[in-house]
Order: sequence, then C-alpha cells, then structure tokens
Amino acid sequence: MAVLLDYIEAERMLKRYGIKTVRSAYVKSGEEAVRFSNGKPLVMKVLSQQALHKSKSGLVKLNLYTEKEVRDAFSYLAKRASSLKLSGYKILAQEMAPSGIEIIVGGKVDPQFGKLVLVGLGGVYVEAFKDVAVRVCPIGSYDAKSMISQLKSRSVIAPNPGAERMVESLLLKASKMIMENNISELDLNPVILYPDGYNAVDLRIMK
Ligand code: ADP
Ligand code: MG
Repeated sequence: MAVLLDYIEAERMLKRYGIKTVRSAYVKSGEEAVRFSNGKPLVMKVLSQQALHKSKSGLVKLNLYTEKEVRDAFSYLAKRASSLKLSGYKILAQEMAPSGIEIIVGGKVDPQFGKLVLVGLGGVYVEAFKDVAVRVCPIGSYDAKSMISQLKSRSVIAPNPGAERMVESLLLKASKMIMENNISELDLNPVILYPDGYNAVDLRIMK
C-alpha cells in the first residue's frame, strides 16, 4: 500500500532537486506556532496519512495574522484532528505565501507506461477543466516546452518566456526526482507562481 512520506522528508527530497518550498515546521502548541511565525502571516494544517485532502476535511487554516488567530487556529485544528480520530497526526505551520497562479506538478506510475510527470492549473481547476499535460519520464527540455504549450491555460501559467523557462525547469527537476526515487505518486498542488519565482506549498509524496 502507498505510504505518505513525512512532510519534512518530502521537503528534503525536493530541496535535493532544487525545488523551492515554503518555510515550514511542525508545531506542538499555539505558542510554538507564534514563535515560528515571528510576526509574519501564517498557515497551519493537519497532516495525517488518513487525511489526504486536508481543506475538504477542515484541516487547513489560512490567513493567520495575529497571535490570537494563530493560537485559536492551533486549538481548532487539534480538536478537529481528534474529532476525526486521526491517529499519528502532526500540525504543520507554514509561512503564508503571497497569492499567485496555482499550478499542479505531479507524477504517478502507470501500469502500462511507467513513470509519468504532469502539469496543469492547480487547485479546484485540475478537476474542473482537466487541463493537464502528461509525459513519460524522463523528459527533456523539448518535452517540458511541449507540455506547457499543449495546455489551454498556457497563457496563464506561462505568460512570458521567463515564466515558461521557470515552469520548464521545474518540470525537468520533478521528472528527475521521479526517475531517481521510489515514488508511487507526487502531488505538488499547488505550486504558486510569481513573476520572479515560485513556491511549492502542498507537498504530497507517496512511497
Ligand atoms: P489540500 O490540498 O490537502 O486541501 P493544501 O495544503 O493544498 O491542502 O491547502 C489548500 C489551499 O490553501 C491551497 O490550494 C492553497 O490555495 C492554500 N494554501 C495552502 N498552504 C498555503 C501557504 N503556505 N501559503 C498560501 N496559501 C496556501
Ligand atoms: Mg493541495
């Protein structure tokens, strides 16, 4: 059975391939979360093998600006996790990334084709529009380019050559990581894009 890789290990793996992630840490109390935030806006979420779709289950709190909001969110999430009877859950605090275009960069193993890498608009749009491009790994930069140009949302995801190069390079890194590791599923959803960079904020790697 597929097992969810611990968030911090997932973060470490992505870092080895040069994929940027938002600053995060596990917290054991509201106080710890306040210290981690250091005055910056925060996001908190419950991570558990038994809850893979966190916001649907009320396990994500966004837009935490004040110390009180941070403390209240911690107690809310801890209560929510125990009412859902999640065993072995952890609470993750993350810096709140500025908003931008949300894309999904993913991967899976197909019984017939083997390891695949995919890209598309992220969040709810993945399911609504089914606008994703998929290739067999490993991909080269020609493939990465053609994946992006195949998307209906290409002008949103890659509005200029710089943005296109950034997404291309992200896809090449993801493909390399999928090739070199024993991963049954990769789900970076979303990776938030900015004019001058990106930030992966939800990392799901299944071993
Ligand atoms: P899930 O996909 O399991 O519901 P996510 O971690 O993707 O949970 O969070 C849900 C949504 O919240 C994301 O799609 C994104 O829009 C937003 N979000 C999550 N983490 C952050 C963050 N650190 N900064 C800004 N927005 C975030
Ligand atoms: Mg997500």
